[in-house]
Amino acid sequence: MNKLNNKTAFVTGGSRGIGAAVVKKLAKEGAAVAFTYANSKSKAEELVKAIEQSGGKALAIKADSANANEVETALLQTVKQFGNLDILVNSAGVSTYKPVDHHEGDLTEVNKLVSVNLTGVTNTVRAATKYISNNGRIISIGSTVAEKASGFAGFSDYAGTKAAIAGYSRAWAWDLGKKGITVNTVNPGPTATDMNPDNTEFAESMKSKIALGRYGSPDEIASVVAFLASPEASFITGATINVDGGNNA
Ligand code: NDP
Repeated sequence: MNKLNNKTAFVTGGSRGIGAAVVKKLAKEGAAVAFTYANSKSKAEELVKAIEQSGGKALAIKADSANANEVETALLQTVKQFGNLDILVNSAGVSTYKPVDHHEGDLTEVNKLVSVNLTGVTNTVRAATKYISNNGRIISIGSTVAEKASGFAGFSDYAGTKAAIAGYSRAWAWDLGKKGITVNTVNPGPTATDMNPDNTEFAESMKSKIALGRYGSPDEIASVVAFLASPEASFITGATINVDGGNNA
């Protein structure tokens, strides 16, 4: 029996990378999965088709995480289509690599980062609490750089947003514990996606900082998310779990 039969999940940023692996895994476990994307319409549609062809249920919705109204509408559409909401996974994210003393250009990129990675997540959680069932699950994708800045300059804005998400999640665990809703953060280490390909010069230097000597795959992150979403993880809340090949060990 699939662990997530009769559950509905909502995943932000599900068209590519870690989010897409989470969508596939939750659908494979039996959940009906709605997911958002910003631009990758055709990738999102392909993913829905693949899930439906294997007998699952999926729904792709264009919704910019930086736009609270679009996310709120996407959540409403999910509940209308699938009838409930049990699992929220916040995976949409962007990155910039600018040291704090980099003064070229304006703050557009930094403001976008904060509006997607931080306020995008807090607004999504706020809106989802209107719908999420008792004993539901909220899982946010953080990053190991929230705890340790990786030994490279330029991660400060990104690291700050990810550290904030872990802090919010611990506090949300207290807000929502009375309803049996668990709230956790998964901190991936370097994971091979479009955001962080594993075949660049940067990746080669990064690998020496990972105990297992390699990047993770999106599936390796998704399996921990699916565990946290499952009934087996019912007593885990307020936790931050590193899935990083020993990057932060
Ligand atoms: P990718 O760049 O490969 O994929 C990003 C996904 O997020 C895409 O589906 C993209 O949609 C979506 N997205 C981006 N911006 C928005 C937005 N404004 N609104 C809605 N969706 C959006 O990234 P990863 O899979 O690598 O990253 C996923 C998460 O994991 C992020 O939060 C990232 O910070 C985190 N992470 C990644 C690590 C890594 O090494 N890869 C390490 C640690 C954490 P679209 O396809 O439409 O652009």
